Amino acid sequence: MFRRILDSAWFYFALAGALVLLAALTQFEVRIPTREKAPISELAKLRERDDINVVFLLIDTLRSDRLGAYGYERPTSPLIDEIASHGIVFDRVVAQSSWTKTSMASLWTGTHPVKNGVLRYNHVLPEEAVVPAELFREAGFRTVGLWRNGWVEPNFGFAQGFEVYVRPTPGAERARIHRQSQSTSPLTGTDEDMVMSAVDFLHQFRDERFFLYMHFMDIHQYVYDDYSAIFGTSYSDAYDQSIHWTDRLLGVLFESLREEDLLKKTIVVIASDHGEAFLEHGSEGHARNLYREVAYVPWVMSLPFLVDGGVRVPDTVSNADIWPTLLDIVGLPPLPGADGVSLLPLMLETGGETPSEPTAPLLRPVYAQLQKGWGRPKAEPQFLVSVTDGDRRYIARFGGADDEELFDHGSDPSEQRNLIEEDGADPADLRELAAAYMESGGEPPWGTQAGEVELDEMRLNHLRALGYVIKP
Ligand SMILES: [Zn+2]
Repeated sequence: MFRRILDSAWFYFALAGALVLLAALTQFEVRIPTREKAPISELAKLRERDDINVVFLLIDTLRSDRLGAYGYERPTSPLIDEIASHGIVFDRVVAQSSWTKTSMASLWTGTHPVKNGVLRYNHVLPEEAVVPAELFREAGFRTVGLWRNGWVEPNFGFAQGFEVYVRPTPGAERARIHRQSQSTSPLTGTDEDMVMSAVDFLHQFRDERFFLYMHFMDIHQYVYDDYSAIFGTSYSDAYDQSIHWTDRLLGVLFESLREEDLLKKTIVVIASDHGEAFLEHGSEGHARNLYREVAYVPWVMSLPFLVDGGVRVPDTVSNADIWPTLLDIVGLPPLPGADGVSLLPLMLETGGETPSEPTAPLLRPVYAQLQKGWGRPKAEPQFLVSVTDGDRRYIARFGGADDEELFDHGSDPSEQRNLIEEDGADPADLRELAAAYMESGGEPPWGTQAGEVELDEMRLNHLRALGYVIKP
């Protein structure tokens, strides 16, 4: 019966719903539906319930400082801001890399890139790796993944645990979709296709427990419609417009969760794999360095109850903490050998509860890593590693040049003053941490090193169409 949604009927359903969606998109106002109010201590009791669902919204290429909830002055994200106002927000979240595949391998396994080894364009997360969808499925959840980014295709190992893992078929595109992409073969369809599929899924499976993962791509592609064309004409404006458009699509999804009466038993997580640069450090896009504009991402959660005023966690945490935390909340087994930790105690303490266990060890330095030239495997590997410890952020290069930089987020949040050059600062402790991080690789917890896959020209061209340079 479940296979039915793979059939075309599902997508015809979606097409038939397009008019309804159009109405919702143009008339949607922020209107977060009814759930009971409860103290944050309720969060520790969710694992005792047998009706909790998880919706994981990975919004590709979303830097946190472009959202109202993170202090942006433009109204790019009214819905996310509303969710934040009675949910949970982590103020400082570092993604473990600045391009999708490395970042997602880390996010799903809770391990650092140096340990899981998924660092290059042709690397594969092995079957032996344990990912959340497998744990959900073993626990009897329906598991569905909807995605539009070629870096999370099944051939890279990302379909593990999903009963259904599909790139939704592009529906009839509504007029006046703007695409900033200069690619000759831009990604077809929009995230609207994915939302339509999700709306139909929620309607059909509302009475079963589910884990739904959606990987949004319109911000990556700078896609938006006329209604969101409100900020201007530069690349940066277009990026903001695509956030506005995506926020409206999230509104449609939340409206559906409300209509199906699912909000009171669903945790909705908004996260991202990396940010986007607009020449802050001389480059545009992402996947080139680890500066804050590509490394700092949102982590916002809507809970099955409303928290008065919301909870904001000010500490620096990592994307690798997301799944250890969520699995702890819903009471599923932990990810084996994860570098990330459950931040449930920290959330409770920040929300005013007395923690049952000490939270201090949860606040640790946070790491990110990028293999330079990840699209050119014949090049000698050079690694960028960042260590974030409180307000201090250290970025170093390993292999080749020994460049290093140190920034103080307290006085210089946009990372413009390298204190090693300008003040003669000596980041000896952070240098040591970065070196220890590089040494901590070795064997992944599941024993098998990342594999490699041969990519044909068609697949390579699809990935190049996203804007990446790949030269096998
Ligand atoms: Zn990405």
